[in-house]
Amino acid sequence: MEGLAGVVTGSDVSANGRDYEHFRTIMAGETNAAIEGAFRAGATAVLVRDSHGGKQNLRPGDVDPRAMLLRGATADPKNMMEGIDDTFGAAVFIGYHAKAGTPEAILAHTSNGNVIDFSINGVSLPEAGYNALVAGLHDVPVVFVAGDRAFVDQARGLFGPVEGVAVKQAVGDGGSLGLSPAAAQDAIRAGVEKAVRGRAAMKPYKLSPPYRMVLKVRKDKPLYGHATRPQAGEAVFVHDDLLEVLNAFNAMK
Ligand SMILES: [Zn+2]
Repeated sequence: MEGLAGVVTGSDVSANGRDYEHFRTIMAGETNAAIEGAFRAGATAVLVRDSHGGKQNLRPGDVDPRAMLLRGATADPKNMMEGIDDTFGAAVFIGYHAKAGTPEAILAHTSNGNVIDFSINGVSLPEAGYNALVAGLHDVPVVFVAGDRAFVDQARGLFGPVEGVAVKQAVGDGGSLGLSPAAAQDAIRAGVEKAVRGRAAMKPYKLSPPYRMVLKVRKDKPLYGHATRPQAGEAVFVHDDLLEVLNAFNAMK
């Protein structure tokens, strides 16, 4: 939700924020633009995963009725990727933000305010990175990304030349300059159509097991399983199962 057109502060994406209802409408608009683009490209089914906070941001009645909507938080390690399986042909990320610590980014963070950095096998990952790894477990490529300029650049650094729309860019410390929601939706509709048509060119994003997670946090949480703490503020966990690594991340973040 942080990477939607016009969003600039935390209150824009918080249920008690003054403009939250407005941004729920914009979220549905970008979602429906992506759905329309996918169907124009020949998709036979679309599943939407509401992935922000408590995951009840999209008003179900606002979503294109051709799509299925998965809403509500789960305890499953797939989390933001809940619902994906081997039957999917492509994944599309919209409304995304850059990882914690990214300069010139809007509302950059990784999962929550406690995480300083999350890496697997030496690759520092934004939420889009580990979500793409979950898609990769099912051999599903990420074919399109939308969010702020810093996020889109970050995604291309990880996934290669993925289709994308930067709906806004950071200005100074706390400002945002971007497309109108309508213009962003036009660009997302066209971009998703192109990306889904061209999905054969995109490879699933994968790292090789064993997965070595290094999690840097502001405040240490109890160690999960066989995790170790080389120094204060850092936890290391190694496992061959990516979902178990994500369980460790969720427990210690
Ligand atoms: Zn986030």
